[in-house]
Amino acid sequence: MKDLRLAVVGAGTLGSELSRLLAENSFSNVLLIDPDRLEPHNVALSSLYRDIVAEEEHEAFTHYKTELLVDWARQKYSLTWESFAAEIADTGLGRLALCDLVISCTDSTLARVETALAARVLNLPMLDGGVRGEGIPAGRVSWFSPSHDAACYLCGISEIRRAELLSYALSTSLGCGLPAEAPAMTGAPDAVRETAAAMLELIQSFSADKHCLKTSFSSRIEWDLTAQSWIQKDLKLPRSVACPWHDLPEGEWLPLGYDQPIRDSLHRNNMRVQLLWPHCLEARCRVCGHQSTPNLRVARLRRKAVCAQCGTIGSYEPTRIIDSVGDEDFAADFTPRQLGLTKQHLYLFRRVFAPMMRRKDVDEPVA
Ligand SMILES: [Zn+2]
Ligand SMILES: [Zn+2]
Repeated sequence: MKDLRLAVVGAGTLGSELSRLLAENSFSNVLLIDPDRLEPHNVALSSLYRDIVAEEEHEAFTHYKTELLVDWARQKYSLTWESFAAEIADTGLGRLALCDLVISCTDSTLARVETALAARVLNLPMLDGGVRGEGIPAGRVSWFSPSHDAACYLCGISEIRRAELLSYALSTSLGCGLPAEAPAMTGAPDAVRETAAAMLELIQSFSADKHCLKTSFSSRIEWDLTAQSWIQKDLKLPRSVACPWHDLPEGEWLPLGYDQPIRDSLHRNNMRVQLLWPHCLEARCRVCGHQSTPNLRVARLRRKAVCAQCGTIGSYEPTRIIDSVGDEDFAADFTPRQLGLTKQHLYLFRRVFAPMMRRKDVDEPVA
C-alpha cells in the first residue's frame, strides 16, 4: 500500500485507464474529480468503463464517473478512494491541499488551466497527460515542478492563447466569449494505454522519492512505424518569462467559516480575502433579459447556467462579479454558503495598505 495522496482530475477515457493502473498498483489514497455522469462516448475507448457497463448496463449511465470508479476500486481491490463530482475550479483548495500530486487527465484546456493554477497556489507538482485526436497513435505526458523557476502549464501556451484563456477564466471583465476548444481527445486505445502507463511510471518515481523530479519536462509518446514499437521523446520545458504565475500575490491561503459572515473572518479591517476565480452574484440573460442571482463561478455560469425563463444554456451575462471581499463590501455580510462559494476552500488573505488600493470597482454593479 502506498500512502501518497493523489488528486486525479478528469475521469474520462485516460482518467479511467490511469485509475485502473493506480488500483492494480495499490495506490490507496486517490481523490477522483470530474463533474459529469458517464456518457456513451466515454465507453468506446475505455476498457474499464466497458467492463462496468457490461455489468451494470444502462444503470451505469445514471452515475457520476467518479462514483463508478470509486465503486469499482472498492469492489475489485478493497480500496477506499474518494469521489468528488465537480469541476476542478469548484473543488475546494483545502481538499486539494491535502494531496501530494495533482494529475490532470482532462480534455479541456480551460480545466487544465484551472488545475494548473490550483497546483501553483498550493505549491504542488502537476502531472498532465493527453492523447492526440481521432485514432492517432500518440500521446503526451508532462511534469510540472512547483518550483518558482520551473515551467508551469501556462508557460507552454502561446501568449495569445494564454491571454484568451485567462480573460475567460480569471478576468472580471464582462462579455468575453468562450475560447475555442481543441477537439476532444479521442485517441486510439493503445495510445491511451501507453500514455497512462507513462503517467504511472512518473507517479511511481515520485512516490519513491518526492524530490527526484525537480524540473518540468514533457514526453511525447508515439508509435514508431519503422521500429514497430512505442517510443518516448523527452523535451525540457523552459519557463516563459511572460508567464504571470511565478510571482503570485503575497499572503496566506486560509479557510473561511462556511456558515459565518465573511466579515467575522476578516478580524482586522485592513484585510481582504481574494477568491481564486471570479464569482457572479447577479446576471442577466442576453436572450430574454431575465435577471438572476446565480451565485456561481463566472466561467461556470458562462458555460453551464440555464436561463430560468427562456431555457437557453450559457446566455447569462454577469452584471455583478466579486473577485475579492473586504470589510466594507456588501458581500462581507454574507456567509460563503450564501454566496455559493465552494466548501473546504482556501482564500488568499491580503493586507490592504491604503484605501485607494481597494478594488471597489469590481464590486459595483455594472450597466
Ligand atoms: Zn508559468
Ligand atoms: Zn433567458
